[in-house]
Amino acid sequence: MQSDVLQDNHGRRVSYLRVSVTDRCNLRCTYCVSQDMKFIPHPTILRYEEIMRVMDLAVSMGVDKIRFTGGEPFVRKGFADFLVKAAEQFPDVELCATTNATRIGEHVDRLAETGVRLNISLDTLQREKYRKITGRDMFPEVRANIDRCLAAGITLKVNAVAMGHVNSDELADFVTFAKENPLDFRFIEFMPIGDGTRWSRDSVWVADDIIKEINEIAVVEPVVGSGRNAGPARMFNLVEGKGRIGVISPYSNHFCGTCNRLRLTSDGDLRTCLFSDRVFRLRPALRNPRLGREALERIIRAATAVKPIGHRLLEAMHGDEGVCHTRMSAIGG
Ligand code: SAM
Repeated sequence: MQSDVLQDNHGRRVSYLRVSVTDRCNLRCTYCVSQDMKFIPHPTILRYEEIMRVMDLAVSMGVDKIRFTGGEPFVRKGFADFLVKAAEQFPDVELCATTNATRIGEHVDRLAETGVRLNISLDTLQREKYRKITGRDMFPEVRANIDRCLAAGITLKVNAVAMGHVNSDELADFVTFAKENPLDFRFIEFMPIGDGTRWSRDSVWVADDIIKEINEIAVVEPVVGSGRNAGPARMFNLVEGKGRIGVISPYSNHFCGTCNRLRLTSDGDLRTCLFSDRVFRLRPALRNPRLGREALERIIRAATAVKPIGHRLLEAMHGDEGVCHTRMSAIGG
């Protein structure tokens, strides 16, 4: 049943839902963990049936892309089964998941059957550095799982948080990696999100600098339609390469004007902007037997209506501290 599409007060249509299925993660990335890692108690986490209800409503309001994230989605019990069910229930929706790829090995063939697209986070191609960034010695597993996914025909994007003095020395290796593998490799600017994470202005490796450096070491052609104003990623074909390379620049070049996203946290809060701590609580309505579909729809529409232009928040609050005080793994990056 299709109702009116979701739209905010700035005229932006919301068609992309990001669903965090857990705030827990098996890695402890230096830029993502905070000093006081308190996790959401289990009874507060939405059950898979509850997430399905929200997805069903969102799809009826015109959402046509859903990304599952976390925390690490594959640490939640039953996530692969849930993904298979979601793919059956929403055959016309583009389903994606963001993962650190440490635990997907056993699920690769089923994932390939669902047609889900994967974004894999990998900030370095060096085993020891991976251990230092993530706190776990799991680079070999991740690297092998990337190969498994490619062999199974899964569409892959590999994302690295671009950090000066951390992985900026690996550009040539990242270019080679993208040349040798049929995937999109994207640098994401380090964002000032989460208290106690290690963001500072100096730690940002800015997208324009990355592009300049790529051009110095490789022959690239801009992908048509992925320019500065065309959405989050600016992508480049690598001449004589299998894959593509690009940047996402939430810090230096905000794409708020075209933002079409709504986020559902694992405890059932709607967040309409990554850079704002404002939440709209869906869980009480989801768990109230007296409230039905209409009440939930009203909350989703009310939240969407006041979706902020996030870069104004960024500009107003820019400093060397985090802008949004909740860490990324709790929001669902
Ligand atoms: N566990 C999954 C993963 O590793 O992809 C999904 C959740 S993780 C929070 C999603 C993405 O957010 C990862 O690519 C991570 O590198 C990125 N991320 C976390 N904190 C960030 C920050 N401050 N700036 C930019 N990206 C960040």
